[in-house]
Amino acid sequence: MRENCVNIDFLSKSENEFLSRAFVGSFALLADPTAAEVADIKTAVSEAVTNAIVHGYKDTTGVIYISCRLFGDELTVSVKDNGKGIDDVKKAMEPLYTTSKDAERSGMGFTVMETFMDSVKVDSIVGVGTKITMTKRIGRNRI
Ligand code: ATP
Ligand code: MG
Repeated sequence: MRENCVNIDFLSKSENEFLSRAFVGSFALLADPTAAEVADIKTAVSEAVTNAIVHGYKDTTGVIYISCRLFGDELTVSVKDNGKGIDDVKKAMEPLYTTSKDAERSGMGFTVMETFMDSVKVDSIVGVGTKITMTKRIGRNRI
């Protein structure tokens, strides 16, 4: 049974966003994924990290923690911030819902994560932070 786990943490600067994609994408290679699976995982992680940067740590800078775990062919990725938190998670996850007035934000981040991963769980406490846990079964050598 394949089992492995790696973690990184970094400052919530947009210039660090590429790191999260590269880190999780590289780790996922251990499970012999298809190119499409790697692209899906990177896209989902990118949305979670961007949310931590622009919403969680809005007007401030903090630490983002990423943990990747492989258990057999199941990849679990968590993205955590100690930022402002989400008061209504159900609403935040609705397609097109955004609290941002920025024209660049369309309120589709959670929808993208749910589309590209098998499961997306959001744990958030206002004033404490947010943790997104996503799973996906990957690899050409599925048992
Ligand atoms: P888009 O992702 O399309 O650019 P968006 O970020 O507003 O727009 P979602 O990613 O779906 O859309 O997030 C919906 C809402 O959930 C955000 O507008 C924000 O209010 C809240 N949210 C998401 N992630 C966090 C977080 N880490 N901390 C605090 N609030 C968050
Ligand atoms: Mg978003």
